[in-house]
Amino acid sequence: MTVHPGPARSRVGAHRQAWAEVDLGAIRANAALLAKLAAPAELCAVVKAWGYGHGPVEVAEAAVDGGATWLAVALVEEGRHLRDAGITAPILLLSEPPADAMAEVVRSQLTPTVYTRSGIDALVEAASGGRRPVGVHVKVDTGMHRVGASPDDAVALARLVAAHRSLEFDALWTHFAVADEPADAATGQQLALLLATAARLAADGIRPHLLHAANSAGTLLHPASRLDLVRCGIALYGLAPAAAVIERPPCTGLQPALSLAAQVSHVKTVEAGERLSYGLKYRVATRTVVATVPLGYADGVTRLLSSTGGQVLIGGRRHPIAGTVTMDQILVDCGPDADVAAGDIAILLGRQGDEEITAWEWAERVGSIAYEVVCGVSSRVPRVYRR
Ligand SMILES: *Cc1c(COP(=O)(O)O)cnc(C)c1O
Repeated sequence: MTVHPGPARSRVGAHRQAWAEVDLGAIRANAALLAKLAAPAELCAVVKAWGYGHGPVEVAEAAVDGGATWLAVALVEEGRHLRDAGITAPILLLSEPPADAMAEVVRSQLTPTVYTRSGIDALVEAASGGRRPVGVHVKVDTGMHRVGASPDDAVALARLVAAHRSLEFDALWTHFAVADEPADAATGQQLALLLATAARLAADGIRPHLLHAANSAGTLLHPASRLDLVRCGIALYGLAPAAAVIERPPCTGLQPALSLAAQVSHVKTVEAGERLSYGLKYRVATRTVVATVPLGYADGVTRLLSSTGGQVLIGGRRHPIAGTVTMDQILVDCGPDADVAAGDIAILLGRQGDEEITAWEWAERVGSIAYEVVCGVSSRVPRVYRR
């Protein structure tokens, strides 16, 4: 995608010459693609971690526009933030909230996940006396062993939920550990265990409104896992769930929504043999033009890019990050004949001319994943929304 310096500059405020642009049209299109793929299953847009760095309120609105009927977050505070912004869609909490947060959960009309007896007790206490029963999603640990109740415990807990007048057994669900590795049989085993757990409850006449399991990778790569609802995060932001499946349909239909850009703040010519930045680790072999770009590790540009060949687009071409990434700035080696001036746009993530640097390219360089790259763009970087 292209970054438009005009609107960015005016929205960013008077002084900061760096910004992350979020293309809400891309978010909407990704939501529409996922909703269509999953139908008749519903789409739950996962907007935890500040909307994977994109801004949760704007993303939630665009996702609902594109066809999402549910939202999901990790924290009670994240759900509360969406409610305060006027978001009315159902909001699922992906882990069991702390007991002392249950009153807030009920007050903010968030949908809690539960997987412990004490969690249910705390929720019942918070929910009793309310006008409507509180919808509850019981989470089964089918193999990832992060959070959730064992299948046996989940059956017992679901019975408890179903028996309580102040609670409503909305869903039984699980989470996959390796859905992004399509050849791994564990995903099918996890799905089978969820369905077997649901069948044990059904034998007693206890049926949740929804069964759900799929994250983005499940939704895109394991059609059988779509069930009644899919919980998509990374794909909503236009990124494949793993580098190995970027070229595999339907991942190819996703549109990245986030770009990271700055205006070159300073340009100089450096003589052959000079060394650059902290540690003086980058030595220029020939006279070269060096551009300073005002983004650094405090903005989420990891120092690991210094030593792993990190690149930046300026003038539609790739140039290496020259030397150590500093807290607020990087240096870019633009080459001996570069026609670069202060004010030119430098792209760290996104497209310029025919070139594109993706979150997956950056992630693979530094031994990470695209999720961490986009979540890592810090709060110091102003977000600019393209609608
Ligand atoms: C974060 C999360 C998701 C979304 O995962 P993606 O891979 O980003 O689609 C879904 N379910 C749970 C439980 C999560 O924690």
